[in-house]
Amino acid sequence: MAQKDFYAVLGVNASATADEIKKQYRRLAKQYHPDTNKGEAKAAERFKEISEAHNVLGDPEKRKQYDEMRRLGAFDPYAPRPRSSSRPGGTTSTGGNTGGGPRVEDFDVGGFGGLGDIFSSMFGGARARPSGPEKGQSVETTLEVPFKIAVTGGKVPIELEVNEECGTCSGSGAAKGARIQTCPECDGRGTISFGQGSFAVTRPCPMCLGKGQVPSEKCAACNGAGASRSHKKILITVPQGTESGSKIRLKGQGGRGVRGGPAGDILITFQVKDDAAYDREGLDLVVQAPVNIAQATLGSKISVLTIDDRKVTLTLPRGTPSGKRFRVRGQGITHGGKTGDLLVEIQVVVPESLTPEQERLMKQFAAAGALEY
Ligand SMILES: [Zn+2]
Ligand SMILES: [Zn+2]
Repeated sequence: MAQKDFYAVLGVNASATADEIKKQYRRLAKQYHPDTNKGEAKAAERFKEISEAHNVLGDPEKRKQYDEMRRLGAFDPYAPRPRSSSRPGGTTSTGGNTGGGPRVEDFDVGGFGGLGDIFSSMFGGARARPSGPEKGQSVETTLEVPFKIAVTGGKVPIELEVNEECGTCSGSGAAKGARIQTCPECDGRGTISFGQGSFAVTRPCPMCLGKGQVPSEKCAACNGAGASRSHKKILITVPQGTESGSKIRLKGQGGRGVRGGPAGDILITFQVKDDAAYDREGLDLVVQAPVNIAQATLGSKISVLTIDDRKVTLTLPRGTPSGKRFRVRGQGITHGGKTGDLLVEIQVVVPESLTPEQERLMKQFAAAGALEY
């Protein structure tokens, strides 16, 4: 049931001071007092209204509660609603650098937990009750990227859960055609207090979930919660040269906006997986190249693969020691306008077993005095 706007009844501004309200009440009460309007039914009715309005607006605590309910539009659904300045789950970034470089930003992580988290992330729990449009939930997640894709750039699919406004009821929690009424559990306050005085604890009302209003019939899709959890599959573009710990923000890819607000973002932190063959040193790639004693000693041609699977042939000089690195220019990581090199690190592999022929020759080699230091 719609109630009267007490400010309108008294004819004062919603920002009127307590003194202004008091003065206006006295003026109107005098004007419409039954004693001065004998038998006038309209005046009597008006006087009752004025008293009722003053009863609430004249009491700081009651006025505060009333203002809060009024802010929620409980009395006049068509009244313009103020925009809330604190957005649960929202961020202030204007990023959205899907293809850009690493970047670290402040980020407000939305909850992943149970239903309570949905409400606290969507409605800010007991802190802020819904009013104007709000940004949808922003989600932060870590994405493991294969080493090669991190170096060359590419696409990696990601799946995540996003809490968002119920698409069926647009977050109202009400079934189609249901009436919205003041929550009987909390009388529209949106909170319930337990205990007394300084021991009182205030919690969001479990019946209206802090909204202060309940529909006469719940939305079947979200069971009245106004929120739903949706499963998203997105193909993430991994920028070339991505490092572990670098982040990207996908603006507007998070939860649907609340009451017409913008969608939330997805913030991804890349975690580059180790590779069996390659290591990274800045923009350089390091690859191990095993050679045998004869190759290292006599010199040899060896081939290695670049990160994009092209074959490179290297000529090892005679007497190449284990651990020696050879640089293949321009075959490293390209990032920020620079390209690193491919460092081929020679590993001389000592044979664990020899054929009889190798054994004989090795002994001959030893006998020639070559192994004296
Ligand atoms: Zn719904
Ligand atoms: Zn309630």
